[in-house]
Amino acid sequence: MKIGIIGTGYVGLPTGVGFAEIGNEVVCTDKNKEKIDDLKAGKLTIYEDGLEELFAKNIAAGRVSFTTNMRKAVAGADVVLIAVGTPPHPVTHEADLKYIYAAATELAEYLTDYTVVATKSTVPVGTGDNIEQLIADKNPTARFDVISLPEFLREGFAVHDFFNPDRIVVGTNSEKAANIVKELYKPFEGKTNMLFVSRRSSETIKYASNAFLAMKIHYINEIANFCEKSGADVTEVAKGMGMDGRIGNKFLNAGIGFGGSCFPKDTMAMAYMGHLVGSTMELVETTINGNNKRKQQMAERVCAAIKDVENAKVAVWGLAFKNGTDDCRESPAMDVVAELLKKHVNVVAYDPKAMKNACQILGDKIGYADDVYAAVKDADALVVLTEWKEFSEVDLDVVAQLMNRKTILDFRNMLDSNKAVSLGFEYQCIGKKIV
Ligand code: NAD
Repeated sequence: MKIGIIGTGYVGLPTGVGFAEIGNEVVCTDKNKEKIDDLKAGKLTIYEDGLEELFAKNIAAGRVSFTTNMRKAVAGADVVLIAVGTPPHPVTHEADLKYIYAAATELAEYLTDYTVVATKSTVPVGTGDNIEQLIADKNPTARFDVISLPEFLREGFAVHDFFNPDRIVVGTNSEKAANIVKELYKPFEGKTNMLFVSRRSSETIKYASNAFLAMKIHYINEIANFCEKSGADVTEVAKGMGMDGRIGNKFLNAGIGFGGSCFPKDTMAMAYMGHLVGSTMELVETTINGNNKRKQQMAERVCAAIKDVENAKVAVWGLAFKNGTDDCRESPAMDVVAELLKKHVNVVAYDPKAMKNACQILGDKIGYADDVYAAVKDADALVVLTEWKEFSEVDLDVVAQLMNRKTILDFRNMLDSNKAVSLGFEYQCIGKKIV
């Protein structure tokens, strides 16, 4: 099949490379010339585990190409996937659809034969109707169907999730479009479930799923607070809860709050949609507010631990919004750092993958270290904010020797607490008191 991908970001790029890997001819287009120049030159623009190898392989095989020319991606394509951003509107926090509508308007004129236009971006209920109208107005003779094909991949696991999706949700009432999508996903037959629903249900499934997962994270963080006061251990509690098949064991890691490019914006968009249709999403709104407070509370805990706030040096391990990615968008780690900066704390940070992206956001407001040990040199406290595996493998003896004051706030519960205590660290973690 010939597939056009509009937008080569965290979704579009792994998706394009993935479809190429299973034998399709894929043309990816993006407005960002710099990105396309890099991709054309064989340089990956994002970090995703396993992507580099597939990217090089499929370029060499001539199955995937990159262009700023939308015509090349759209003309003659069986399926065009829209994967542009839907960021929160700066004032209302609803999903800002300017990139979606710009892409739909532009692609309309290049539609030649019958084409399935599929929205991979996360869009509010009813957006498919508007895209359909836009295309029909712009190109009245075009033969097409607009379908919703929401993306459920997790950043950091994008390649894995492309090849092993939990489910594929298709929102369409068109039999013709449904058959083309079945053909597109034929290599996944028997390996995953395909669910065909109406376009509006499909658009809602994506938001309802993300809001639910965000609530689950917020819930376990509330339980962690409870455990700290009651003498229970949230890790044990989460394990016991997760054994119940109705609850499930995923998304029960207590931490510093959810973040990333999806949950914050999608929960806000869901809350906004609730008001729009006259059905307030109270649980979602509580989750958003609680999650915002959580990051402030984490920074307050750091300050309480270091005492002489303005003269202390705090080492931060982790800036990406989670491990496995270089993405710092809406990173709760970055938010905790921002809260620390408001309190005039000196921060020196290290992240295995996200230094470049973090530096673009924070500039010279913090110091940057080359590795875990350089970060903790002369520090008065170490704060662990992102769950990178390498942090659990550090030599705490060396850390103890390098630090000025032996204080650890392990907000990802990933260091060896017994070892830390035996080395004389004042050690705090999430959801349990260390005695
Ligand atoms: P991104 O910002 O990484 O990438 C979007 C790309 O689209 C950018 O490169 C941008 O230059 C390009 N673009 C914007 N307008 C364009 C246009 N008119 N023509 C061509 N290119 C254009 O965004 P992302 O993280 O890949 O997310 C894309 C969508 O997928 C969003 O709606 C997001 O909510 C959804 N989603 C993201 C994830 C995730 O983990 N990142 C997961 C599931 C769903």
